[in-house]
Amino acid sequence: MKGVFHCRKCSTALMGEITVRSTKDPAVTPPPMRDGEPICEAGTAFKSYTSLQWSHDPANPAPLEFAPQFWGNPLDFEATTQPTRDPARLSGCCGLDGCDGSNMLCRICKTAVGTMQNDCWTALIFVPEPDTTEFRKTDT
Ligand SMILES: [Zn+2]
Ligand SMILES: [Zn+2]
Repeated sequence: MKGVFHCRKCSTALMGEITVRSTKDPAVTPPPMRDGEPICEAGTAFKSYTSLQWSHDPANPAPLEFAPQFWGNPLDFEATTQPTRDPARLSGCCGLDGCDGSNMLCRICKTAVGTMQNDCWTALIFVPEPDTTEFRKTDT
């Protein structure tokens, strides 16, 4: 499917049109998940039915412990998002590890719209927040 992620609060389109592939589709090559490499080409994203993070403590789930979730290329969100100023969410050794909750804001209304991972031990990936972003399909 094709579509565009929008910020729910201010309705701004966060990107141009992208093509989303489902990880449930047997014809889709699974995401490579290589350290320091984008999860997918710019202009594409995965809809994943497994979560990027999980916790071993059911009472204290990881921030990205939900499914389905979208895995996008950070380049597609680069022009429309900016890092949060909350230092508690910006941990990482040389980039962002994305382990402490959403860390990227809509540039227009400053709502937290997603989680970026771009550290040396993570793939390059952007996970839009389901509560604050909306995927609007552009095909049927
Ligand atoms: Zn690092
Ligand atoms: Zn916004």
